[in-house]
Amino acid sequence: MRTPPLPQTLWRNALVIALDEAHGATPFRADVLVEGADIRAVADVSLPGRPVPSPGTTVVDASGLLLTPGLVNAHTHSWEILLRGTSAPLPLEVWTLLSYPPTGVAPVPSRLVHLRTVVAALESLRGGATTLLDDTGELPGQTPAGIAEVFRAYDATGIRATCTGTGIDVPIVDRLPFADEVLPAEVLAASRDSMPPSAVVQEAFFAFSAEARMLARPYPRIRYALSPSAPQRVTDEFLVRAADQAREHGEVLHTHLLETKLQQTLARGRYPGRTIVEHLDALGVLGPNLTAAHGIWLTPHDLELLAASGATVAHNPISNLKLGSGTLPWRAMHDAGVRVALGSDGASSNDTMRMLDVLKQTALAHTLGDPDYRRWPLVSEVLHAGTVAGARAAGWSDRTGSLTPGLAADIVVYDLAATTAFTPLNDAAQQLVFAENGASIAEVWVDGRCVLRGGRSTLVDEDALLAEFRAEASAYLEAQLPEWRRLQESLEPAIREAYLRAWSPAG
Ligand SMILES: [Zn+2]
Repeated sequence: MRTPPLPQTLWRNALVIALDEAHGATPFRADVLVEGADIRAVADVSLPGRPVPSPGTTVVDASGLLLTPGLVNAHTHSWEILLRGTSAPLPLEVWTLLSYPPTGVAPVPSRLVHLRTVVAALESLRGGATTLLDDTGELPGQTPAGIAEVFRAYDATGIRATCTGTGIDVPIVDRLPFADEVLPAEVLAASRDSMPPSAVVQEAFFAFSAEARMLARPYPRIRYALSPSAPQRVTDEFLVRAADQAREHGEVLHTHLLETKLQQTLARGRYPGRTIVEHLDALGVLGPNLTAAHGIWLTPHDLELLAASGATVAHNPISNLKLGSGTLPWRAMHDAGVRVALGSDGASSNDTMRMLDVLKQTALAHTLGDPDYRRWPLVSEVLHAGTVAGARAAGWSDRTGSLTPGLAADIVVYDLAATTAFTPLNDAAQQLVFAENGASIAEVWVDGRCVLRGGRSTLVDEDALLAEFRAEASAYLEAQLPEWRRLQESLEPAIREAYLRAWSPAG
């Protein structure tokens, strides 16, 4: 019995930004051949050996199109889709009281988890991203049924995603510097009493992880990863165990790293004589599978350790600005050889998951702290961070990140005449980063399948799903948000005191 030939699509004479080893971010004209799920050829039209279509191949005149690899969002939280627009710019430690309330959260109904995740996926695809590293989390706690719903929703939209189990076994008050001095005794006691013993949390977390890993297996574009949320949010034992398991299973180890000044202040007491990165190095947690979000408050020695380990830092410039977290040392990181990927962070600290916005912000934000314009981000570096480095950070470099034969056909097709972003066409790479906002996207392909056309999903009935989401989300939030706001307001003065103390010269 003969197997039927795989479907083929050939884009003729497309403008291509391949991010492959030969061309990097330099645009060129090429024929791009996709067969089944994979890219078969990216053939420079000025060279001999252009692909010849077989009978049945769909041939597209692509002379007015730009083809790029799908962007990779290397740090986000789909949970926060529910909380878009709820928060003004605030420091992380105050913001988190509303976006991740430490108490009093009713579980999100599984249908709402599904709908929320569909929104995250569609918004990502429209912003040019085909792969996500979703630090999924869930309050009051993750369940196998909940993460199964996340997997189903991502699969239904066709996007590629790595989803984490997110673990925390340190009470919230012990993640805040000066907590014993600024918080009332009853708040401290209640917070500490509410956290079960670490051994109990760990057993539950690693049992959940074993199940989540199994549940992810049937989905070709879903992978599971472990996320001990941040060094200050987990015990060393938890961190080491998660790192061991991630290595054993060949998974990404995800964490937040030195996002705020308060975390640096806290670390001085918790790891005397060492930085957090030095501590992670001593624990054996640093390694090529580690993707650490933020990485703002780092020392030159921290950068050396991160570079030597092969770890990736996921840079979230919009979230960092909204939460006033600080500025990642972009040039010093590149000089030291640290891998840098890009993330949107969640929709409560951004408030979108549009990766094209993140590219632009990355290219702009680092002109502020350094007058030497030769050290400012290059468009080629930004595009590399948003694709090749992101694919590695999300644990998908075997499938995606560039337009290279043998990799998956994860392709964003921009119509150069759909908007004025590429008019006049002077430099497609510069215009992609600085002028394009997603409105020129004609199609988005993942694994050789067109999943978005003309801004609309080809796979799900988005009008019906979005209408249902609006109703379900409002019902849930109307019952929850007032209490979360009361909690934030009651604790804000004490958190502010700790925040200002950490920022004071003596802090
Ligand atoms: Zn985050």
